Amino acid sequence: MANLDNQTDMYDVYASSCGSQTDIRAERTNEYYLPDTRGSYECVTFISSGVCDVGRLLVNVERLPDYTQRRKTFCHEVGHSVGLQHYTSIGTGVVNGENNDCMKSSTVSGEQWWIEYSQHHRDHINEAY
Ligand SMILES: [Zn+2]
Repeated sequence: MANLDNQTDMYDVYASSCGSQTDIRAERTNEYYLPDTRGSYECVTFISSGVCDVGRLLVNVERLPDYTQRRKTFCHEVGHSVGLQHYTSIGTGVVNGENNDCMKSSTVSGEQWWIEYSQHHRDHINEAY
């Protein structure tokens, strides 16, 4: 959640247990519960049609062998929770460039931009919230 805090208008508050103010809860899981997948996001409670109140992130730690892949996957799934989509094409990119950020759907190399949101995505988040 540090990406939301540091890169957008949004912020997070850690709670040791879920309550009525909880927007997103994250759970570590494994290959048995999330086969062939590094992470997923789903809305579990809707306020109204298409508007999520409480979402859930699942992260398959068995498919995320290093810190970079785990950070990228959390960034990616949190991005989905605030409405971001995958990039359809990947550019050669610069840090925070248009086409390179954690919303790429695959494993990534160690460069910083794969664990952050691009300016394009930051603008979308800040416009929406
Ligand atoms: Zn995705």
